[in-house]
Amino acid sequence: MNKLFERSELRDIYEKVEAGRRIDEAECRRLFASNDLATIGAMANLVRERKNANRAYYILNRHINYSNLCILDCDFCAFYRRRRDAGAYEYNLIEMLTKAREALQLGITELHIVGGLHPSFKWEYYVEMLRELKKLDSRLHLKAFTAIEIKHLAWVGKRSIPETLAALREAGLGSLTGGGAEIFDPSVRKIICHAKESAEEWLEVHRIWHQMGGHSTCTMLIGHVEKPEHRVDHLRQLRALQDETGGFTAFVTLAFHPENTKLAHLPGPSGYDLLKTLAIARIYLDNLDHIKAYWVLMGMKLAQVSLSYGVDDLDGTIIEEKIYHMAGAQTPQQMAQPELVRAIREAGREPVQRDSLYQPVGVAK
Ligand code: SF4
Repeated sequence: MNKLFERSELRDIYEKVEAGRRIDEAECRRLFASNDLATIGAMANLVRERKNANRAYYILNRHINYSNLCILDCDFCAFYRRRRDAGAYEYNLIEMLTKAREALQLGITELHIVGGLHPSFKWEYYVEMLRELKKLDSRLHLKAFTAIEIKHLAWVGKRSIPETLAALREAGLGSLTGGGAEIFDPSVRKIICHAKESAEEWLEVHRIWHQMGGHSTCTMLIGHVEKPEHRVDHLRQLRALQDETGGFTAFVTLAFHPENTKLAHLPGPSGYDLLKTLAIARIYLDNLDHIKAYWVLMGMKLAQVSLSYGVDDLDGTIIEEKIYHMAGAQTPQQMAQPELVRAIREAGREPVQRDSLYQPVGVAK
């Protein structure tokens, strides 16, 4: 054992992690209760390097948020609009294709597509969108829709969830996004997103998709009204589903941005909290290969530091981000490949451009 950690209150957990053994929920709660970030970070780094050595991944991608019209009104969300509200928008197919074409010229390998629960788009809008985007380049990976959008599309298309997922896959869906999980605890959901699908529904959509051989990411939204025990419960449910299906590629901690939301009185998470939560997720989610720092939410400087606290993926070029910028995010909207590579190298890691399923693409420039 590293002498530095011999006197830590977390010594027994350190020994367990060092031996490659799984920690339980009580130990995860102790990590959240501790302020010994150095020991937590060291444990996370052990797991990170065991799984991913010195590699740090990034992807050339573009986000497209096809519309912010939504029939729900989650209290933590600054993105949604009603049709007559200022700032409401929706993209037609031509606009979507134009954005995708421009991004393809920059070398992207993935489109990340999510939107609100649109009040009037027909089933055909979504299927045609996937089909036509895929026609632009058959190698382009379409990572699209949160679990609640899948539920909405099933309702719009009058199909079961398995039928909906099968039809979307046939049209070009490559993988599902992990949004909408927020915090699984029902008492928290009642405050921040009372009308959204339940934890069971979120997990069921991902379970079905995984059983069909599909992959997805998983997320946890922190820094609003949740308590540490809610985070532990959330991580427990993600780890259990991953034990069952193995379909999650990566875990992402999402930072709540209070500005322009109904919860604007809350402060959002601190940098310390974000770093600690990413590190704890790395330690606890021993069955997930990748932990992602979403730089557009936490800023590149902190994301860069997180590469020493369990994180092995900085996400990507993004190009146009609306959801968090409507909530006041001050980060840039895009990051060029050389900047991502430089940030990774400065942190002492080896940059690896990846595809949507973490296979290496090309050689870092
Ligand atoms: S979080 Fe999603 S479902 Fe909730 S209001 Fe915003 S866009 Fe709609």
